[in-house]
Amino acid sequence: MLSTMQDQPLTITQILRHGSTVHGEAQVATWTGTEARRRSYAEVGRRAARLAWALRGLGVTGDERVGTLMWNNAEHLEAYLAVPSMGAVLHTLNLRLAPNQLAYVINHAEDQVILVDGSVLPLLTAIEPLLTTVRHIVVVGTGDASALAGSGRTVHDYEELLAAQPDEFDWPELDERSAAAMCYTSGTTGDPKGVAYSHRSTYLHSMQINTAESFGLSWSDIVLPVVPMFHANAWGLAYAAFMCGASMLMPDRYLQPAPLAAMIAAEQPTVAGAVPTIWSGLLDELDARPVDVSSLDRVVVGGSACPPALMRAFQERHQVTILHAWGMTETSPLGAVAHPPARVSEEDAWAYRYTQGRFPCGVRARLIGPDGSVMPHDGDSVGELEVRGPWVAAAYYLDQDAEKFDDGWLRTGDVATISADGYLTLTDRAKDVIKSGGEWISSVDLENNLMAHPSVAEAAVIAVPDPQWSERPLATVVLREGATAGVEELRDFLAERVPRWQVPERWAIIAEVPKTSVGKFDKKRLRARYADGELD
Ligand code: ADP
Repeated sequence: MLSTMQDQPLTITQILRHGSTVHGEAQVATWTGTEARRRSYAEVGRRAARLAWALRGLGVTGDERVGTLMWNNAEHLEAYLAVPSMGAVLHTLNLRLAPNQLAYVINHAEDQVILVDGSVLPLLTAIEPLLTTVRHIVVVGTGDASALAGSGRTVHDYEELLAAQPDEFDWPELDERSAAAMCYTSGTTGDPKGVAYSHRSTYLHSMQINTAESFGLSWSDIVLPVVPMFHANAWGLAYAAFMCGASMLMPDRYLQPAPLAAMIAAEQPTVAGAVPTIWSGLLDELDARPVDVSSLDRVVVGGSACPPALMRAFQERHQVTILHAWGMTETSPLGAVAHPPARVSEEDAWAYRYTQGRFPCGVRARLIGPDGSVMPHDGDSVGELEVRGPWVAAAYYLDQDAEKFDDGWLRTGDVATISADGYLTLTDRAKDVIKSGGEWISSVDLENNLMAHPSVAEAAVIAVPDPQWSERPLATVVLREGATAGVEELRDFLAERVPRWQVPERWAIIAEVPKTSVGKFDKKRLRARYADGELD
């Protein structure tokens, strides 16, 4: 029997319509370095209509791709809403990708138009000769586009394009399963791979973000997505905020600790999201030059494991709750969020908050052991995490990477346990785990313990070849400014916290841990540097 309910497609157009009318007074504030410029959601809605007209005028039809090479700002939000709602596909470009990879993803997705912030024009200019499909370049804000003059592509000014257009657009009826937005994974191995989110997956994901079991956004919040809009759609925060009428504070290119502290003090966001390195930088900044960040009620941290010491420090010194979350580009990215259960002691609550969290109803999970069998959720059994659900990727765009998919499940490449009460704990990435004498050592566990030492700013542990044990851990440590701790002291500190056989023999005090384009520890580069197990 069919239901008697209306069949309303779940599309970004609904988010655009709802946000710009019912929540028309909500605001997006974009930081300019010293203050914020503001735009209401009603105005964003009108400008999205103008942008859609402008793109039609440039010949964008059907599901053609429109790339954005932009920071988090109001104009990027307009593109987020306009491009999918007109039926085209938004392709957010990671401006920290290596130039050849950036050109690769633009060509692979066949972007027709690129919207580019004036401040990153030099990056686009440098790779422009490599681009095979781009016809138009639209410059947002001020920037010198003269180098593109002989390129054979037409260069436009964003504001001039919009000025000539009407305030309303006849948004088409769309199939909710059609592609709305694309994001390429940062490609720690091989070429980047494209995930094409659908309207439906984005809509459902936004609703999930807004539930209390996830980030609980509502119209009384001001959301600061520090996580870039080119990284898994700023973790879904932009669409989710527009859907529920939460205002937004966009950091634009001001992502360093000092301007972040200044914009938080001035604009008083209640929710923020970023990778751990951003928050440890901010913590140091607040220690050196305190400002009031107490407007922040909860801060979502994910992308890599959040060191427990960081969570404690924010709670104790700034009364800010860090919400640890797990996800990946392929999961839109919300996978799990670590709210503690009700009615547990404070110490137990902390132990739950350190985990990667519980899965929402839309994400099913299982663990696959080394022999391919499904492992129990008992908190001890370790296996590779596989997930499935309506906002989880089933394939990559024009790519036959069957390795990543297992009978309808996404293989995450993360090694984990799941407790009987449903909490996920990542012990490692499959490729980072250290296999020492037939036992597994979690690099993440060693890093978290090291980063609890007051002298340690960052610690990254990798496997190096060892003649006796096949692999042993090598700890690379970045000391805090002025810290005096030596290797001896760090080794003793670790020995009190992890089994003795796991304590590394090899140590390197380094100036900086190399980072990937999205700010995670780049263990591939570290491994290459110490490939022979010898310290330099
Ligand atoms: P990549 O880093 O390969 O580009 P993503 O940016 O999508 O891909 O990152 C996804 C990966 O980041 C996850 O598979 C996991 O390894 C790691 N990750 C995300 N959140 C967490 C977390 N809270 N704790 C530990 N690792 C995490």
